[in-house]
Amino acid sequence: MKKPIIAVLVLLGIGILFDIIGAVYFKKLSILIQVGIELLIFIGVYVGNRLAWQWGRLLTMISFVFIALGVFAIFASGKDSENLGGLIISGIVSISIFILFRTKSAREHFEVICPDCSSTNIKANDFLFRTAKCKKCDCIF
Ligand SMILES: [Zn+2]
Repeated sequence: MKKPIIAVLVLLGIGILFDIIGAVYFKKLSILIQVGIELLIFIGVYVGNRLAWQWGRLLTMISFVFIALGVFAIFASGKDSENLGGLIISGIVSISIFILFRTKSAREHFEVICPDCSSTNIKANDFLFRTAKCKKCDCIF
């Protein structure tokens, strides 16, 4: 298994652990829905599912934006927050996974590189991303 994938699995694992602890500590069972989604992505990353790659990139980017806004709001309010440390760690984890998913070896793991022209500019060819289409040469793989 490639190093960026191992790093993503470790980061996701830490994130899932923190969320489970948070769900128990704050007694918010709604966090468990988030844990469920994270577990699906964790399994998807492990087996190299293209949907996990696509959703993993999207969700880590969205969560990074919301976390950054949250951190900014805490700083702007000038109040101390016990959530700040956790938020900053979550932000770093999110952006790290996003960056790791962009590496060449991660793209090889998820088979999202065109076999004909080696372009990384691809899109899903069906709803579940079982096949991908190269935007450059129209090759379906
Ligand atoms: Zn191509």
